[in-house]
Amino acid sequence: SRVVAPCVRAYSSYPMSHDKIANPKDATNFINGKFVPSKATKWFDIHDPATNNLVSRAPQSTPEELKAAVDAAAAAYPEWSRTTILSRQQIMFNYVRLIRENWDRLAASITLEQGKTFEDAKGDVLRGLQVAESACAIPHQLLGTNLPVAKNMETRAYRVPLGVIASICPFNFPAMIPLWSIPLVTATGNTLVLKPSERDPGATMILAELAKEAGLPDGVLSVVHGGHDTVDFILDEPRIKAISFVGSNRAGEYIHSRGSANGKRVQANLGAKNHAVLMPEANKNHALNAIVGAAFGAAGQRCMALSTLVTVGDSKEWMSELTELAKGLKVNGGFEKGADLGPVISPQARERIEGLIESATADGATIALDGRGFRPEKYPNGNFVGPTIITNVKPGMKCYDEEIFGPVLVVLHAETLDEAISIINNNRYGNGAAIFTNSGPVAAKFEREIEPGQIGINVPIPVPLPMFSFTGNKDSIRGDINFYGKAGLDFYTQFKTVTSLWRAEDATETRASVVMPT
Ligand code: NAD
Repeated sequence: SRVVAPCVRAYSSYPMSHDKIANPKDATNFINGKFVPSKATKWFDIHDPATNNLVSRAPQSTPEELKAAVDAAAAAYPEWSRTTILSRQQIMFNYVRLIRENWDRLAASITLEQGKTFEDAKGDVLRGLQVAESACAIPHQLLGTNLPVAKNMETRAYRVPLGVIASICPFNFPAMIPLWSIPLVTATGNTLVLKPSERDPGATMILAELAKEAGLPDGVLSVVHGGHDTVDFILDEPRIKAISFVGSNRAGEYIHSRGSANGKRVQANLGAKNHAVLMPEANKNHALNAIVGAAFGAAGQRCMALSTLVTVGDSKEWMSELTELAKGLKVNGGFEKGADLGPVISPQARERIEGLIESATADGATIALDGRGFRPEKYPNGNFVGPTIITNVKPGMKCYDEEIFGPVLVVLHAETLDEAISIINNNRYGNGAAIFTNSGPVAAKFEREIEPGQIGINVPIPVPLPMFSFTGNKDSIRGDINFYGKAGLDFYTQFKTVTSLWRAEDATETRASVVMPT
């Protein structure tokens, strides 16, 4: 009864509901501008996390299919890299318009395959769309430099593309993270082979369809699927010059070391444990609402989720109010009106998260709010975990040391700001940290002394917009060039520097000069 989606509009039939789909369609490869059904023998089932009904399958693309995608990307590169910057800009304008027109369709695919609420899925699309919008300014961004360096002599420096790039994406932002690479890779004149997460490739397939409709020539963007085998193919394929990876430390450290050993550029954004410091002089209402939203939104499955709270001094008295706010959140299927958070991605993820909550009790912490076993009435088979708050947590406990990636807030206490800063700086991760305070000097001290690379002052999830870059540090990143913004363009390009002597006939030398010019 399975229907392979042969056509361009591969996912347009996704409903805006969690009802069982009668004929789930398999994801196809997208190679050389065509949606090609895979000849895979191994498939990854994709379930609606709210019901665990099958909604699609992703193939483990075969070695021939993977090679065909790189062949197409390598063949498209020479001509694409020579297209004018203004024609690439026009395609970006089209792409932005089409993403806007297909916003709900993209978001529906995300809610169905990934689980987050429909409103939050729209935000997922928006944050990717903004990168595509920033790529519309590519002629300005790629302006080079030019300097007269001697008589009749000038040096020009400008950026050129690298060739074939690969992007390997995680499950938690099915639109935003593919869009961290698609617009910037292609606008800079490179070609791209993208592997979405095998758990929710639907949004990427729509983005590929829209890229074609926007005018991206065949082969400039290809999409392949799979898990470890596809990643190993990418890591070892010599024609791939650079890899953008976003995902866990386990996968990312492996990808960074093997990709780098094979001579590729690798940028890898990894896991996190983001802390919020709650100062007693903070605006309580703003701070508590911001912390609850950022800890539990997207069921905590954001790399910038505020998963750790450090109360300072008397702000610990506010914990019962924080717990009440968390209790008030509605956990439900992502298409349900009023849902604040949906399920987590899989039954295995739920089990792992509940195991970490369990470990907290064994380690001597206190479960102030327990979301284990929560089941919305309409969705008894989904992977739901209710908002959970664990207090009396200390570094060294498993629930503190590990990234939980679920709707769980762990709470530590510090008597002073210095103590809070030292807790955060001793953590291995460095994606983000926030402080809630109404004191300028306190905020300034925090900003100066805190190590993580993205800081929020009364802002819970300080992810920079694409005119800046995503600047996590420490164990939240491998490689040293950040995603999107100026750094993202640097990652996808290399400099050519040209020194020219104009009017060579004016040169006065009569013999070869063998010394360095002094
Ligand atoms: P993941 O590492 O399991 O998967 C990411 C990608 O790597 C997928 O495409 C997957 O197929 C592949 N992969 C998985 N295991 C692999 C292995 N052993 N070898 C080779 N490839 C492998 O990550 P996920 O669960 O999809 O995403 C969640 C993680 O991503 C969290 O740790 C989160 O913090 C992180 N993340 C980080 C950022 C950031 O910008 N720092 C953003 C989003 C997510």
